[in-house]
Amino acid sequence: MVKIAAKRGLELRCKGWRQEGLLRLLENVMENAENQDELIVYGALGKSARNWPSYRSIVAALKTMNEDETLIVQSGKPIGVIRTHVNAPLVLMANGNIVGQWASSDHFYELERKELICWGGLTAGDWQYIGSQGVIQGTYEIFQTIARMHFDSNLKGRFILTAGLGGMGGSQPLAGVMAGAAILCVDVNEAHIDKRIESGYLQKKTNCLDEALEWIRQAVELEKSVSVGLLGNAAEVYPEILDRGLVPDIVSDQTAAHDLVYGYVPIGYSMTGVAEARANNPKQLEKDSGESIAKEVRAMLAFKEKGSIVFDNGNNIRTQASKYGVKDAFQIDIFTEAFLRPLFARAIGPFRWIALSGDPDNIRKIDRFILKEFADNQIVTNWIHLANQYVPFQGLPARIGWLGHGERTRLALAVNQMVRNGELTGPVAFTRDHLDAGAMTHPNIMTEKMKDGSDAITDWPLLNAMMNCSSMADLVAIHSGGGGYTGYMQSAGVTLVADGTEDADARLKCTLDNDTTLGILRYADAGYEESLDEVEKKKIRRIDTEALKEENRNA
Ligand code: NAD
Repeated sequence: MVKIAAKRGLELRCKGWRQEGLLRLLENVMENAENQDELIVYGALGKSARNWPSYRSIVAALKTMNEDETLIVQSGKPIGVIRTHVNAPLVLMANGNIVGQWASSDHFYELERKELICWGGLTAGDWQYIGSQGVIQGTYEIFQTIARMHFDSNLKGRFILTAGLGGMGGSQPLAGVMAGAAILCVDVNEAHIDKRIESGYLQKKTNCLDEALEWIRQAVELEKSVSVGLLGNAAEVYPEILDRGLVPDIVSDQTAAHDLVYGYVPIGYSMTGVAEARANNPKQLEKDSGESIAKEVRAMLAFKEKGSIVFDNGNNIRTQASKYGVKDAFQIDIFTEAFLRPLFARAIGPFRWIALSGDPDNIRKIDRFILKEFADNQIVTNWIHLANQYVPFQGLPARIGWLGHGERTRLALAVNQMVRNGELTGPVAFTRDHLDAGAMTHPNIMTEKMKDGSDAITDWPLLNAMMNCSSMADLVAIHSGGGGYTGYMQSAGVTLVADGTEDADARLKCTLDNDTTLGILRYADAGYEESLDEVEKKKIRRIDTEALKEENRNA
């Protein structure tokens, strides 16, 4: 089959840059896909479209649509093009949503087999994935926060143990090296290890634990950074490291543990064995995965007991382990609540921009602009320096940068101006992860232990999506968990194309301001001090019904 890659250059195949930009983003997620033949972008099962006829029909629709039309996509399948108006989104999507009582992984797989539904991950189904770098700054900021909290702000000479070198987990070795640490990443799939080496995210590989540990030992001793990929099963390797009496400084895991059938690979299964079991004996495979995860998480808890800083990096591994008998799995912290919530409470989160012409120089010019114009923002300037030095582009040149309310709009409007006056050679798309302040409910990841107990309420991402539609975004998507995440989460995605026009100025300003406003309001509603401070400083019109209740009581 011909390999799909995003078109580069300035030639349009659609009736405008907004449609062309979205088409290139769809092609870009395919270019970066873990398994393009099956349209699987990342996260074990996260797809860009339901099947190949759907993919081709989406492409055809984008190529022929007018600006006053909207393409409707239901779980990766285009349903129709409707007449709206020029300020309406060009694409509206709902991916993987199933009502509560029916939202089980078994039911999801049944619907998937009938080709009635598919999982869009967070950024696969709505064409926002930019390769492993999509989560790299998040992982780096976690490591930096741990360094500040536990290691005198320095991870030099520290040993990080983790697993999973897939689409997203593949960012871990590079984030570890950027933080100065020696990082060991275990993966069962040699092809995935090789892919990370080829993309420049991983330095060394071996299938021998002794050799891997020796490389780590040397790097720790010399306080040098190194990333090592070890071919092995984490459920075997973690207990083995524990038995040898070694205690890593930091332990995590980013295997696709959320999915016991299509994601995690249990002990004793080869890659061919697991593929056969997926087709012929999924129930046994599910049980074996759950039992292996339980072993791995018991080892993680034992590391914690011995002093390692252990955290769940957003793959539901604790949830799976607790279902398979590990009662204290939730003693392990979740990264959002433990390390990143103060940022999310200020709506500082993973914002991204992509050069639609394919010209890497556009991203470098934007880097320079940020270093100059955001000089007082240490998080982003530190990151841009590091990203320039370490992060290779995958697919269309792109950058991630954690920015907050007002900052995103400022950057996007400046970039749109740079497109308009020809400083950049082509339009730029703006988007963000769903794992962002107001855009995700996941009581075991994003919204665990919310101050007011509102962990499971999904009104917020739904409001976010509706608000982004009213704010003139180009693409808006409502996602729910699929596969092993079924019933666990709800989220919303948004994308805009800065094509240099004044209309784009209006869209960018309205959407980006409102997107982060809702994030701040969501956390302010839950009582976070940082958000109340943002409300005050940034003059956000919050309605405080709690204060009114108090006034009524006193009246
Ligand atoms: P992926 O399917 O692309 O890769 C998973 C990797 O895990 C594969 O390389 C696989 O070979 C490996 N693996 C499976 N079982 C293993 C085992 N027992 N031992 C060692 N390796 C094993 O998935 P991905 O896109 O990298 O995502 C990984 C997880 O991270 C998912 O659960 C995803 O939902 C989650 N995630 C978290 C965040 C975040 O912000 N923290 C963001 C995106 C994804």
